[in-house]
Amino acid sequence: MTKNRFKENGAHRFTISKPTDEEPVLVVCPRCGSQSSVVPLGENSVRCTCFSCGYTSTKPSNGRSFYWYDENPTDGYFGFNLWLQTNCIGHSLWAFNLKHLQFLESYVEANLRERTKDEKWGWSNSSLASRLPKWLKSAKNRDSILKAIHELKSKV
Ligand SMILES: [Zn+2]
Repeated sequence: MTKNRFKENGAHRFTISKPTDEEPVLVVCPRCGSQSSVVPLGENSVRCTCFSCGYTSTKPSNGRSFYWYDENPTDGYFGFNLWLQTNCIGHSLWAFNLKHLQFLESYVEANLRERTKDEKWGWSNSSLASRLPKWLKSAKNRDSILKAIHELKSKV
């Protein structure tokens, strides 16, 4: 039996939560409730766009507040709810985007968890995996969590 190897690959929480053109942060449109996305706009701004109703909003990207342990965190810029959020065995399971969801999936699926030294951050306890809540790391919750992750994937 081969074990899935899981490497953190320096997936730092700040990197994964920061929107890029390839991996926008997916949020709930405040006007129509559809999926909308937050992408960087130039060096110092972010823009939220909804393709369903045409809603757009722009904000400076320096005014960001984000709480990692929040049960229902927002995008951090606009304060909009995350699109990828669901209830899982009494807890809130959420992700910023598909990349983040895939990270969670590979983490939960992995039998062997291997920590690698992050070039940039060193043995920091702020790496994404070490910030995951206990219930997400518990083997007995594995099947329920994977089910919830698959449900969220089907929303994108
Ligand atoms: Zn909309």
